[in-house]
Amino acid sequence: MVHRPIYLDNHATTPVDERVLVAMLPYFTERFGNPSSTSHLYGWEAEAAVKQARNILAEAIAATPEEIIFTSGATEANNLAIKGVAEAYFQKGRHIITVQTEHNAVLDPCEYLRSLGFEITLLPVQKDGLIELSELETAFRPDTVLVSVMAANNEIGVLQPLAEIGQMCRDRNVLFHTDAAQAIGKIPLDVQAMKIDLLSMTAHKVYGPKGIGALYVRRRNPRVQLAPQLHGGGHERGMRSGTLYPPQIVGFAKAVEIALAEQATETQRLTMLRDKLWQKLSQVPGIHLNGHPTQRLLGNLNVSVEGVDGAALLLGLQPVMAVSSGAACSSAKTAPSHVLMALGHSETLAYASVRFGIGRFNTEEEIERVGEYAIATITSLRQQAMIV
Ligand SMILES: *Cc1c(COP(=O)(O)O)cnc(C)c1O
Repeated sequence: MVHRPIYLDNHATTPVDERVLVAMLPYFTERFGNPSSTSHLYGWEAEAAVKQARNILAEAIAATPEEIIFTSGATEANNLAIKGVAEAYFQKGRHIITVQTEHNAVLDPCEYLRSLGFEITLLPVQKDGLIELSELETAFRPDTVLVSVMAANNEIGVLQPLAEIGQMCRDRNVLFHTDAAQAIGKIPLDVQAMKIDLLSMTAHKVYGPKGIGALYVRRRNPRVQLAPQLHGGGHERGMRSGTLYPPQIVGFAKAVEIALAEQATETQRLTMLRDKLWQKLSQVPGIHLNGHPTQRLLGNLNVSVEGVDGAALLLGLQPVMAVSSGAACSSAKTAPSHVLMALGHSETLAYASVRFGIGRFNTEEEIERVGEYAIATITSLRQQAMIV
């Protein structure tokens, strides 16, 4: 039997939990109806399932069901939020504030808007990956319409202070969007307490299926206007046309429901595993933890290793573990991670970085093996470098 490497890339995607799959299956076959079919049982069944899912997802973030707009994932949710707000509010202003360490699904829509004449302020981060609130404060302008700051970073796991940012935006009458793709089901999210106006989610980072996500769009205090980016049958209150996909929607809600029910125990377990791995790795001289030591996502350990070649390191680890050096979405590029560069790393050090993403199905034995093998790989690469 071929041994498959230990999967430790849970920030790129996660396997579908069996319980999620079981919940999804009937909606592919016997309950296959179109939720927009209002004249027969098939449609009603599908509509009821979608309604229940919407309730679960709304409750997960303290929103109302009408405020959940289903999308194909967080990329689409971010595009809808950012371009949709820019288009709807352009009479009010054309200035948007975001952060250097955001996912490309936020940065690229902003760059696109820049090409159309919008002005984008990219906030820097401190050495620990957190934004400085005073920097945000000075970035606001009378024509600022939107602030977009992610909840949890997909590379270094850093958790930004959402409630503080939300309050600052609300005080200035500026909309606040957060990309919560890595955060949903993992850390508490409350759009009321945190004064979030738009929030992007996705299922496949939380043991749900790929290809489904949602955008929360606030309906009261204030009521957010959004220009649709997909026109058609007027689904999702006109904000996102296209036939809804009940199996994926049911799976998404089931995944979030499970994550919330198990959040407390999973928090403890993942913290234990992550600390165990760091205890091992930190014995190696010249290894640095990237991102804030405690203000970070469970199960995320991103390290930079001095004195080794980044490509050789990943190649060396690959037979035993599935890890990556940065975001999966940008790994096609040869440039070093923009997130690690924003922390002030040299290119060489940014290349020599490994993101360990520990997840629900990783065991303690796996983490021990990973730690030992990583240390052995680093040691041997450094010895080779000295011989050459
Ligand atoms: C994965 C991810 C995305 C993209 O989500 P998709 O559902 O794959 O489109 C966006 N933002 C962050 C922070 C992510 O981790």
